[in-house]
Order: sequence, then structure tokens, then C-alpha cells
Amino acid sequence: MLTSWLQPTLEQWWHLHQQQRLHHALLVAGPAGIGKAALIQALAHRLLCQSANAPCGQCKSCHLFLAGHHPDFLQLTVENSIGVDAVREIAVFFQQSAQQGGVKLVSVPQAHKMTEAASNALLKTLEEPGNGCFLLLQTDHPQRLLPTILSRCQQWSIAAPSLPEAKQFLRLQTNENLPAELLTLSAGAPYLVYDWWRQGQVPLILDGLALLRDMLQHPAQITNKVTKLESLPLLPELIRFVLFERLAHAQQGLQFEAIERFDQWCRDCALILGQNKSIALAALMYDLAKFTR
Ligand SMILES: [Zn+2]
Repeated sequence: MLTSWLQPTLEQWWHLHQQQRLHHALLVAGPAGIGKAALIQALAHRLLCQSANAPCGQCKSCHLFLAGHHPDFLQLTVENSIGVDAVREIAVFFQQSAQQGGVKLVSVPQAHKMTEAASNALLKTLEEPGNGCFLLLQTDHPQRLLPTILSRCQQWSIAAPSLPEAKQFLRLQTNENLPAELLTLSAGAPYLVYDWWRQGQVPLILDGLALLRDMLQHPAQITNKVTKLESLPLLPELIRFVLFERLAHAQQGLQFEAIERFDQWCRDCALILGQNKSIALAALMYDLAKFTR
């Protein structure tokens, strides 16, 4: 069973598929970390299952899918960008006949990372994908896709869950009552918080927030504690979070200056190397402590 905020969309798709009206190119759009990938996986599982009661979890297709190597399901892995080669791979995949005799599916995460050349190369596949072929695109930034791509897909916008829904999801997945501030930190993205939890990062994140609050309150300790700060996961996100928390009631001018200073550090960060990184971080923390005093 999917989560409460994703299940209705899956049921709608399934209904359309049973009436043979499911669009061959779905673009699933919505904020990062709300479960778009889980939704696509659930649809793929149902479409590939060979039983009338899909997904049965018992048939050969289900076994192949659950083992992660169904021959009629191509899951693209995306790093910095999606190039022409990946799009050719999709076209070739769709030209072959289905090995299990059912549908053929391609899942493309982060579709906004398609280069212009790749987008143009995909147009032909989008127009004539072939019988029983479905292209399942996902994006956090639909506005970055070319209009020619957008006009050939059917866009489904998935909204972020409500806070109670997100909390319930995390409780069920982790068997723990995680602090609600993790959801605020993730901008309301429960799957992102779930990933942090699975990777064992939650204690580090919570310690990091406590450390940052402490440093801003007691700037004299900044130099001693800056090394500890450097080893934290999600450091820019954590600093931004604590900064906004401290500035909530500050004057607008002061808020602007502090955020400007933080943004400057973010920009410089990639260019500064070695020991200078610690010095720049300590300098940032001293300045932020001044702004938020
Ligand atoms: Zn099955």
C-alpha cells in the first residue's frame, strides 16, 4: 500500500489503464522528497504484473520486478545530466519486443536534467512510443523542461502531504517519533527525512542543529567548535535553518544583510580549499552571531 497522498493518483492511473486510456508519456511533477519515485515504482509494478489481481507479488513478472531486474522495465540512472545516449537507449529499448509479453516501461527521474539535444532526440519517441510502451518521467522542476516535451506529455502534479500525513508516514516507516523540525528542515518532504533516517544521519543532523544554536548564542566558542561543524552532513541547509529561526523576529534590513552574508559564503565555499575552509566558516559564524544577537 502506498502512502495516503499518493494512492489516489495510482488508482486514477490504474482506472485509466483498464479503460486503455492511460497516456503513454506521464510527467510526474512535484516538490523533491514527497514520493514521486515510489509512485512511479508502484505504477510500474502494477502494469508489469501478469495477474488479474495486480500487483499479485507471485507471478514471474512480479518476482523479476521485485528482484530489480525485470527485462521490460528500464530505469535510467541520472547524475549531472541526461544526454543523447540515454535517449537513444530508450528508443532502442522501445523497439525491442517485450520479453514477458506485456507492457514496456521506461522510468526517467529528474527529467529536467535532459540536455536540449537529448530533449529534441526524445520528441520522436514521445510521438510514437510503440504499442504497450510507457514513458514515466519525473521532475522537481517542470518549468525547466522544453515546451515541446511538456506538450507531448500528460502532466500530473503531486502536492506535498499535510504535516499529519507526513508525520504518520515517518512513524510507520521508522517506528520512531522523529522530531517535527526534521520535516521543516526538509521543506515538508517526508521521503527525504526517511532517507536521512535510513542513512543514519538523523542524530548527526539533530546534534548539528544544537551545536549551531549554541555557537550563535556563545560566539566565544566558535573557533573551538568549528572543526566539529565541518564534519556535519547538510551543513549549508542546517546553517540556513538555524539562521532563519534566529532571524524570525529581527528587522527586515538585518534579515537581508544576514542572508546576503550567508549566500556569499555559499558561493565562496566551492572555491575555498584546505584550511581556509575552516577560517571562512568561523568568520561566517562570527558574523551571523553578530546579526542574530
Ligand atoms: Zn504479479
